[in-house]
Amino acid sequence: MTARVLVVDDILANVRLLEAKLAAEYFDVVTAMNGADALEAVQRTKPDIVLLDVMMPGIDGIEVCRRIKANPQTQHIPVVMVTALDQPEDRVRGLEAGADDFLTKPVNDVSLFCRVKSLVRLKMLTDELRTRTGGDPLRLMTNEQITADNRPGNVLVIDNRAAVAERIRTALSGKHDVTIAVEPQQAIEACAQSEGGFELIIVNLDMEGIDALRICSQLKSMEQTRQTPILIIVDPDDHQRLLRALDMGVNDYLIRPIDKQELQARVSTQIRRYRYTEQLRTSVKASIEMAVTDALTGLYNRRYLETHLAHLIEHAVNRGKPLSVLTLDVDFFKSVNDTYGHDAGDRVLQELSGRIRSSIRNIDLACRTGGEEFVVVLPGTDLQTAERVGERIRKTVAGKPFNAAPECHLTITVSLGISALTTVEEGVDDLLKRADQALYRAKREGRNRVILSAA
Ligand code: GH3
Ligand code: MG
Ligand code: MG
Repeated sequence: MTARVLVVDDILANVRLLEAKLAAEYFDVVTAMNGADALEAVQRTKPDIVLLDVMMPGIDGIEVCRRIKANPQTQHIPVVMVTALDQPEDRVRGLEAGADDFLTKPVNDVSLFCRVKSLVRLKMLTDELRTRTGGDPLRLMTNEQITADNRPGNVLVIDNRAAVAERIRTALSGKHDVTIAVEPQQAIEACAQSEGGFELIIVNLDMEGIDALRICSQLKSMEQTRQTPILIIVDPDDHQRLLRALDMGVNDYLIRPIDKQELQARVSTQIRRYRYTEQLRTSVKASIEMAVTDALTGLYNRRYLETHLAHLIEHAVNRGKPLSVLTLDVDFFKSVNDTYGHDAGDRVLQELSGRIRSSIRNIDLACRTGGEEFVVVLPGTDLQTAERVGERIRKTVAGKPFNAAPECHLTITVSLGISALTTVEEGVDDLLKRADQALYRAKREGRNRVILSAA
């Protein structure tokens, strides 16, 4: 992993020490020796992570962190506060300022690389998600909103020593809701039952008679918990298994004896980070949906139809399965607009979409391809069966008036054309064209009818 690290410390020896360690692992290191220079370097060099000393004359580390996190252009850059061991209150202040993690001096190699690598990995993921949201990071929660988010986290603790688990619950009480599982099966069940899912899972790495690493790997592979951060608790001499766990994707660790303040801080940070990435995932999903669906009706749009129909045809041909396409156009729709207005027309289109959707299966693909024109793809369906579906849609539309406006009930009819896949060579365009030709015939022959393409 190569990444740019900005090291900030007012003492040259400290800068040089971190610089040497990071350069040996092939990180690209940039340095600054006071707060003002650090802020300038953040703007100029766009680092992937900042290691920030707390105590500095002038603008101190806390303030630098606050400013990085207050700026929408830089708030996504992870900041690790480097604090003196005897200043535990610095950690709390750092977290309040939006810091993502902290290291204590003298900095130990395992924790340095664990924190740096996991934050850089996270940043790469969020950078990718941010690009996919359409480059509009400003729409996302700002750091202040994220830090101000005081909703209790939903935490699962897996530990077969009930007393230890209870101590963790007590340490987190008032801030988070803690569920305890004393054996793996109970943990899996808790995950399955948890409404909304856990936002953090704390696993004790040495439980007698239980392979805790296996639990971690199961959690990382299960659908419901794949994205959930895991924090493990390890003995100080259990180096080997700590490294294994980190390799496996465990997000953070605490070394026994547990420092209560550090536990609270790490739990809050993990939950905050999880909420941020979940928010990004949701917004990526929304922007993908926006790109493929029609805003008025929520049906798929023409672009989606064209790409997806190509896959469906290929799939049908490969498996020797039938596939039909149905095109639909509202009869005399212009007069609805002309008589009752465009808004009434829009409501008819929305209600029509609902009626189409309720007449087909989940695997069928309903699209609005133009103003009052729709296409439905019916995988695994031959021409005769498709005709029955077409008739069902036609009757569902004509059979009951549409509620176009208050006190305005309109009878609407539609014409439909249907084509079915015949030869292996037939592509998207041919299939749609034949359905359209059948639709024109339906119009010519009097509307409110279904016509099949002769192939
Ligand atoms: P035909 O039976 O031959 O299909 O007659 P028609 O009036 O439906 O045909 P035409 O294609 O001439 O008219 C379609 C009308 O659909 C024209 C346009 O005003 C209307 N339209 C297109 N898109 C929208 C829309 O998004 N909302 C509304 N309300 N009307 C739309
Ligand atoms: Mg029409
Ligand atoms: Mg039309």
